[in-house]
Amino acid sequence: MSKPRQAFKRFKAAAASLVLLGAALGLAGQAKAAATIVINNTNAAGVGFNDPAPAAPIGGNPGVTLGEQRLFAFTYAANIWGATLTSSIPIIINASMTPLTCTATSAVLGSAGATSTFANFPGAPFTGTRYSYALANKLSGTYLGTLNAGQITANFNSNLGLNANCLPGRTWYLGLDNIHGTDIDFLAVLLHEMGHGLGFQTFTSGTSGAFSGGLPSIWDRFLFGTVVGKTWADMTAAERVASAVSRDGLVWIGPLVNAAIPSVLKFGLASATFSGSPARELNNVTVRVGEADFGPSLGTSPISGDVMPVPEQTVGAGQGCEPFNAVNANAVNGKIAFMTLGGCTTAIKTKNAQNAGATAVLIGDTVAENGVQPIPIGGWDPSVTIPTVRLFLSDADKVRAALVNRSRSRSGLQVVLGRNGGARYAGADAQGRALMFAPNPFVGGSSVSHFDRTMFRNQLMEPSISNDLTSSLIPPEDLSFRLMQDIGW
Ligand SMILES: [Zn+2]
Repeated sequence: MSKPRQAFKRFKAAAASLVLLGAALGLAGQAKAAATIVINNTNAAGVGFNDPAPAAPIGGNPGVTLGEQRLFAFTYAANIWGATLTSSIPIIINASMTPLTCTATSAVLGSAGATSTFANFPGAPFTGTRYSYALANKLSGTYLGTLNAGQITANFNSNLGLNANCLPGRTWYLGLDNIHGTDIDFLAVLLHEMGHGLGFQTFTSGTSGAFSGGLPSIWDRFLFGTVVGKTWADMTAAERVASAVSRDGLVWIGPLVNAAIPSVLKFGLASATFSGSPARELNNVTVRVGEADFGPSLGTSPISGDVMPVPEQTVGAGQGCEPFNAVNANAVNGKIAFMTLGGCTTAIKTKNAQNAGATAVLIGDTVAENGVQPIPIGGWDPSVTIPTVRLFLSDADKVRAALVNRSRSRSGLQVVLGRNGGARYAGADAQGRALMFAPNPFVGGSSVSHFDRTMFRNQLMEPSISNDLTSSLIPPEDLSFRLMQDIGW
């Protein structure tokens, strides 16, 4: 069974010009493999990767100070990428940990990007195309730009675990075994951010459609808009802007990613199949649902039960936004709770339903949506252990009508939640191409440069970090390296 997911990761797009951070190369950590990754610790003494606070070794991380453990995890992550990639030119990462935005419920975990891009260098597979610094070095076989300049900048949030107002009760998990419980797996975040820095990003603006310096990114040659039937490299700026918010209309056409999809992603979209309904239009009907970023994903074992509504308790408070009273708790205990979006976060509704004994939650949308399936539900609460799914407004209206006649503890409307929707892989289009993240409205720092959130099994390079990630970059767990190979790694 998959574990809860967190949803608050961002990365920073690369600077278009060369940026040098930290003049002296302190070779704090070095990983030698198929590619050598050098970590240039740019933190000052006493902070970030140099934090002297004592720490007990954990999960295979032998460091005895906070800074040592952080740096050991960084080096470990660099080793994983280094063992997977091939390059004759060392990859230099300028790395730091500084206080980043953080509140009680959300945080910027980290950001990373290439420090520069190069085009038309000797050995470039495509002319007139921008490549991230480290990839351009690999392809040219020479050190482009200033010798030993950092090719990637990566920064991580040092507030986590040290600031009472930053995700209270949570901290970075610095072990290397993915056993992070409700803490945040630093290793997964490191691997994700390094992925961006290595080239998992476009340098083209998704909001203006403008190419960086007038040239498309290598990313744009594999990014395909199904509405106009063109790659980003071939589109007009206006077409790129529309494509960036086209939801199900943005796919990856790199052959290695798409060849690997059957071995990585589960077949079938998240779905709800209803039965027992007095309303014929809902009986024995399977509809597509959108999964939540928190709580478990729908796996291959279906969850079934009687559906019970949760009437609002205090007028205006929103359905499920308060701890359930005795009537509501009795109604949903052992059942699947049905609530309408709004009034509070969906994570709060689900937690209240879970506390009352519900086994899953159906959330009815409040606005009509187009698309292959309802959009995922955002949010974060690692203590949620039951799945939550969103219904299209039209389906939610049918459920609401079917629940009008019911007893206090039984509705007769049954639902099975599983993966029976559509003849396609979860996170791919009908042609088996990987869906890219293209929500509407555009999400700065996330849109276009990630895989879509609907991918399952969950992927390292989705915009929200999932709790069930492994440290693998390759099939059958992960598509990240296949995408890197598509762009030239
Ligand atoms: Zn990211």
